Amino acid sequence: MQWERMTASELAELRREGVALLPIGSLEKHGEHLPLGTDGLIAHKVALLAAEREPAVVLPPLFFTYTKEMKNLPGAISLEADLLLRLLEAICDEVARNGFRKIVLVNCHGGNSALLKVFLQELCDKGKDYAVYLPPIFLAPEAVERVKETKEIGHACEVETSFALYLYPELVRMERVPKEFYSSRKDYDLSPASTSVDWYASYPDGYVGDAKKASPEKGKVTVEAHVEKLAELIRKVKRDDKVPGKLREFHRKSLNP
Ligand SMILES: [Zn+2]
Repeated sequence: MQWERMTASELAELRREGVALLPIGSLEKHGEHLPLGTDGLIAHKVALLAAEREPAVVLPPLFFTYTKEMKNLPGAISLEADLLLRLLEAICDEVARNGFRKIVLVNCHGGNSALLKVFLQELCDKGKDYAVYLPPIFLAPEAVERVKETKEIGHACEVETSFALYLYPELVRMERVPKEFYSSRKDYDLSPASTSVDWYASYPDGYVGDAKKASPEKGKVTVEAHVEKLAELIRKVKRDDKVPGKLREFHRKSLNP
């Protein structure tokens, strides 16, 4: 069900299902032990597994995204926000032109979340003939709570490393995981305000928690739960006739409020 691996007529067949999944990741440092493309690799596998349970076409993963907060470390490739917004719109336009009018963004990079919400909102008055759906990064937080032992998680951590150990064991270098526990270490308190350097100040090495606690077994539990939730969501998206209708209605009213 991978767009790039199907023939044109196979793809046309799958159009009946109406739903496309766009896996979204990043290129950025993931500690010393996970690959730069971890987020997109995970998003891709998770999307493929979900599409096996509930048919949908899976687009090639988008690795070039928004990761300004990690530009202090080698390996980050970050697009400017306005370029990424335009790129997402161009991709979705093309996917919809091919007959897939419901697009689910399967994002696994926290740094994209704010921008993806803006993208969704930007679409409301554009009169598009498609709808976009954005699930949260952690679709099965209860499964994460069940398996995690470390109190801080977030990046290249116990949970993400477990995902990677289950899905891409050949890419994980467990022997390079730091020996000590990494806590987020912001040395200022400006709460409740946010600042431009909060991420950098908290995670100067792009690593948090204790990935030594990661295991493929924990990965299996969390990935399976995640995939099941995503498959459920695809089913729900297929049944949805409200959002496309509301989009048309909103667009019409916004032209003449
Ligand atoms: Zn990540």
